[in-house]
Amino acid sequence: MALPPLALLWIALLGACVGSFLNVVAWRLPRQESVVHPRSHCPHCGSRLRWFENIPVLSWLLLRGRCGHCRAPIGLRYPAVELLVAGLFVAAALAAPSPLAAGAPAGLSPLAGGLLVALLVPLLLIDLDHLWLPEPLCRWGVVLGLVVTAVAGFSQGDGPGRILLFWHLLAASAGLLGFEATSALAQRLLGKPALGLGDAKLAALLGAWLGPTGLGLAVLLAVFAGALIGLIGLASGRLKRGQPFPFGPFLAIGGLAVWCLGNPFWLQQLGGPLGWSTL
Ligand SMILES: [Zn+2]
Repeated sequence: MALPPLALLWIALLGACVGSFLNVVAWRLPRQESVVHPRSHCPHCGSRLRWFENIPVLSWLLLRGRCGHCRAPIGLRYPAVELLVAGLFVAAALAAPSPLAAGAPAGLSPLAGGLLVALLVPLLLIDLDHLWLPEPLCRWGVVLGLVVTAVAGFSQGDGPGRILLFWHLLAASAGLLGFEATSALAQRLLGKPALGLGDAKLAALLGAWLGPTGLGLAVLLAVFAGALIGLIGLASGRLKRGQPFPFGPFLAIGGLAVWCLGNPFWLQQLGGPLGWSTL
């Protein structure tokens, strides 16, 4: 979608603010704290952040990565996530609306993309930190994905979009059942859990948003990326053999890559090497 540079700047700023909130969500949700109350505070000394200490990226730079009260270091991860979400918002705004039906209302695709980013980034961070994908977030993600699909599909009138919801519902179910079956099979073969049940719920979320082809591509990307990072981790000694390794972040990144670049792009990239020239 063609957008003027000023609009992209506003979208990036909005993304940085959302990223700041997602940092809070990723910290508080696993600790069962409310994400809105109390206001942001330093996890070390507990002092409440003043407005100028709470500006995405800028505050971290101005305070040189330390709390304004107790000088405790604030991780580089906070501004990094804010920048990442700003970038993903811009990418989602520029994304080809391929996951949604052609003829969906203009503006739906960037809005939906922002929502998908806001769902996947906290799931990615929480799985990295705690090897856990919170079920409520996955469940809401499935519902929202189906709502977006329904709006995109039905706004098309009599076109093929009318059955879009059916396909995405099918993909969500296939993602859930496929991952649960793989997990059960792996458990039987290896004698220990190989995939968390959270991964099945995240796959259902991706199915609801991306449909069957998009889900397949996202899973494929996640498997490739996960295998690559796993091998690098083993070779460099940073990962021990048999050490649990979250798969959720790879699924989330795969899903975002498919949403932002579109199915045709990935079919072309992956189709050649895998011999799917007919797809
Ligand atoms: Zn402090």
